[in-house]
Formats: sequence, C-alpha cells, structure tokens
Amino acid sequence: MLNYKNLSEQDGEVMAIVQRETVRQVEEMELIASENYVSKAILEAMATVLTNKYSEGFPGHRYYGGNQFVDEVETIAVERAKKLFSAEHVNVQPLSGSPANAAVYMAFLKPGDKVLGLRLDHGGHLSHGHPVNFSGMLYDFTQYEVDITTGQINMEKVREIALREKPKMIVAGYSAYSREIEWQKFKEIADEVGAFTFADIAHTAGLIAAREMNNPTPIFDVVSTTTHKTLRGPRGAMIMCKEQFAKQVDRAVFPGMQGGPHDHITAAKAVCFGEALQPGFKIYAKQVIANAKLMAEEFIKLGYKIISGGTDNHLMVVDMTSKGLSGKEAEIILDKCGISVSRSTIPNDPNPPMNPSGVRFGTPAITTRGMKQEEIKKIVVWINAAIEQREEPEMLENIKKQVKNMCLEFPIPSI
Ligand SMILES: *Cc1c(COP(=O)(O)O)cnc(C)c1O
Repeated sequence: MLNYKNLSEQDGEVMAIVQRETVRQVEEMELIASENYVSKAILEAMATVLTNKYSEGFPGHRYYGGNQFVDEVETIAVERAKKLFSAEHVNVQPLSGSPANAAVYMAFLKPGDKVLGLRLDHGGHLSHGHPVNFSGMLYDFTQYEVDITTGQINMEKVREIALREKPKMIVAGYSAYSREIEWQKFKEIADEVGAFTFADIAHTAGLIAAREMNNPTPIFDVVSTTTHKTLRGPRGAMIMCKEQFAKQVDRAVFPGMQGGPHDHITAAKAVCFGEALQPGFKIYAKQVIANAKLMAEEFIKLGYKIISGGTDNHLMVVDMTSKGLSGKEAEIILDKCGISVSRSTIPNDPNPPMNPSGVRFGTPAITTRGMKQEEIKKIVVWINAAIEQREEPEMLENIKKQVKNMCLEFPIPSI
C-alpha cells in the first residue's frame, strides 16, 4: 500500500474512511462486472505531481507552457494504445466513458441526427440513447433489442431497423451483454445505409486488447472505451479512430467537450497499456473468460436461468425470478455475505429498473486476485446457499465468514 503518512496526520477524518474502504475491499468479494483492482504502479502513477499541470491541447500543440514532460507521457500512452488495439489514431484525454461517448457523437453527428443503439434494459448503456441521458436528449435514437428467445442480438433485425430508419450512426458494444459481437456484420449493415460505425468496448477492452475477443478497431470508424474495467487501468477513457477522423475526434474532445486533460491519469493510462502489452495480461484475460464460463455453467446446473444461455466474455446476467426473488433482493442478500453484485434488468423486464429481475455477475476483479476454477465453484455454491436460505441469518453470517477467509487468501495487488 502507498504510504499515507501525510494524509493521516493532516486529515484523519478522510483517512479513516479510506482505511474502512480498504478493509472492505480486502475482506469482501467483488463480482461487479465493471470493477477491477489496479496495480501498485498504476496507483502510484495516479498519485504524482502531474496532477498539478494544465495541458489544454495535444502533444506539441498546447495552450500552456511547461508541457515538455506531459507531452512525453501522453505520447507514450497514445503509442502504446495504438499498438494494443491496432488503432490508427488514439485520443487518451477523455475523463470517463460517458464524456468519451459525448465527444464521439459530437465528432460525427449534429443534434437531432438519427442513431441506432441497444436498449438499456436489453444490455445497452445509458449513453446509447436513453431518454434520461444527454444522448437520448440530443440525438434521435432508435433502440434495437436482443431476441427474446435467444437473448442474443439478431443481426437480421438490426438490418431491418437500419434499412427502415436510415441512421447516421450505428452503436455496438454493451454493458450487460455476454456474447461476442458480430462487428463485421454491423459494418456491412452500416455501409449499406451509409452510417458511421461506433463501437463502445468499455466492458470488454481488456479481453479485446489480449485478443481473447474480436477487435472492432480495424473494422469500425470509431471506438471508445473506459480504461478502468477489464483493461484494469485508472478511472478514465479513450477514443480510437481511423486516421481520416483524427482531427474531428480530437476537436470534439478538446475544445468541444473538455478543458485540460488529467495528466496524472494519462500517466497511469500509459502504465496500464504497458501492463496490458505484457504476456501476463493475455493469461489474465484467458482466465477471466474461463472463470466466467465456469460460473455460468455452475449456475445453470443449479437451475438458474442465464440470459443468452451462457457467456463468451467476463459477465453474465442471471434471471433471479425462477428462485422467487428480484435482482435487488438478491443484491441485498449477497451484500450481507460480503459479496458485491449489481442488480440488472433482463430483456423485457416486467419489474421496474430500481427493482429489476436480474443480477449481473462478473469475474475481472476476483481473477485479478488470482481466483480460479476451484474458487469459482465454491463461490457459486455460497451464492446459491445464500439465496435459497435467505431467511436464515446464521447461514448468511456463516457464508460471510467463508467469503472473508477466501478473500484473505487472495490479496489485492495494490494493498
Ligand atoms: C461503463 C460504460 C460506460 C461509461 O463509463 P463511465 O466511465 O462510467 O462514464 C460507457 N459505455 C459502456 C458500454 C459502459 O459499460
């Protein structure tokens, strides 16, 4: 762990909270699909004096003096990201996934333009056209869905909608979808109707970087991703695109959307991309997927329904209604056992979004701790026991103890 000597001396109130959160992370199990643990090196990069700098502009073209070293670190981040995703152009300045998507839309569209995106309750993201989000307010989104029987995206249906709506852009890439995406088919449909192709790989970027899932970057016009999910870097995002769109994408990020980049986070992104280029990261990504596949199989054996029937990536959405409870109730019960999960809608969910029918499980964080097949089997047994015997407080207490013991055996890398 970093030495927090000054923080504890100066502000015990904040330090005490950080300490409690540290203990929570150490002793509890993280199955939220969008979370992960950064390395010590990444944590240190985020805690550098680069946070003191203003650097509006891009390497070699800044609106402030004294940027020679920030230029160097941003250039390294860009070059590593290009290599990692076989990208022609990369902008590493977006502050997070949603602002990155705002910049992508700004770069390619005018307010009111027609766009296709997956419905939120079918696995899409708020920033893919939901009415409460800027994307749904500013652009004219039509939402496509997953097939109700297969739980998968039906490309013929997507094509029908595209031919009917004639969108200017098609968005693919999701937050709660467990299957490989047919990037090439999306591209063919987009070409047929003259639409731009936008892949949002926020969730799967690490698996794609490791080439354990198909990479849309060489196929699509523009790709956005967060850096803090399976990619296992600092909280942030980036945009990759074909060289021909480089200028408009850069201009949309700055001055379009943002002011100064967060240079300490840029440094941490560079370290993250460096880690992801190492052979060990491929082993990690393979294990994330193997763990998720096994977890889905074990759930199915116990009678749980998985949306789409399984997983090709790091996550799965489990329909809890067959066990007589909602996703929110399952989330609360598992919280009592020291297991963090996120409730999730299922396609055409009869229940409201605050109390949906599903739970989303993910393996990126526990795989970073080093958990493998043997642990996955135990974890699913505990989850099932907690759900089936949810009325028995001693049972939940007992599971919490076992969860804690396992977590203590698998330390978090930065602690
Ligand atoms: C997580 C996610 C985002 C948003 O990222 P934030 O950093 O939370 O703004 C965007 N798109 C998809 C598909 C995501 O899963």
